[in-house]
Amino acid sequence: DRGDAILRAEDLRVSYGEVVALRGLDFHVEDGEIVAIIGPNGAGKSTLADAVSGHVAYEGRVSYRGREVADESASDLVSQGLIHCTETRDLFGYMSVADNLDLGAYRHRDDVDERREFVYDLFPTLEDRADQNARTMSGGEQQMLAIGRALMSDPDLLLLDEPTLGLAPVILDDISDGIEQIRDAGVTVVLCEQNVTFAMDHADRVYLLENGRFEREGVPETLRGDEYIRDAYLGG
Ligand code: ATP
Repeated sequence: DRGDAILRAEDLRVSYGEVVALRGLDFHVEDGEIVAIIGPNGAGKSTLADAVSGHVAYEGRVSYRGREVADESASDLVSQGLIHCTETRDLFGYMSVADNLDLGAYRHRDDVDERREFVYDLFPTLEDRADQNARTMSGGEQQMLAIGRALMSDPDLLLLDEPTLGLAPVILDDISDGIEQIRDAGVTVVLCEQNVTFAMDHADRVYLLENGRFEREGVPETLRGDEYIRDAYLGG
């Protein structure tokens, strides 16, 4: 392990009262990587994203650009480029697509027009629907809007929690293209995903989380050949 990881966790543990969600995780994410955290429902993927972005208390150590996450406020982390796109998307339903995007830029007012243009290039639907209320967008369009709004915050590290959840295959292609373009723009991505095939297609490295523990880690080519992963996650 190098010392310059953009994100590093050591013995990361999270409990909700009696429920132990994360049982001591070690991982690192290097600048420019796409790292996928895969695992079934309840494995702890959202908890990991919440801990790393400063939204949930943890034990152990988590550092973002060398600074302990617990010592920073969630909004300071946003200012420092750590942006969490949650599973529930957190859109403002009665506001327009354009206004939701602009809210993403509230901590970073420079170059807003360029970032909006990047988002509209990435997901042209959002430009076509700029005046539509967010709540009337389809599930896939809302996911694009949530990612678009996160990009308006000018992320260095983008945490995407289940971006494919509930989406039709045709929309997945759009999200796929979007993630590749986000990578090309130099953004580091942590992708929490139940859709293992999707995650493996994009990730440089993968951690398999089950019941709060990593059961496997490695590059997709290796994990695709792992018998357990094939049987349990890739349909044999
Ligand atoms: P999913 O894909 O279904 O969202 P996940 O992998 O993201 O699952 P988490 O949502 O992190 O998993 O949940 C991990 C465990 O922690 C589960 O057993 C869950 O019930 C529990 N948990 C999560 N949030 C809370 C909470 N606020 N209070 C109590 N238990 C919680």
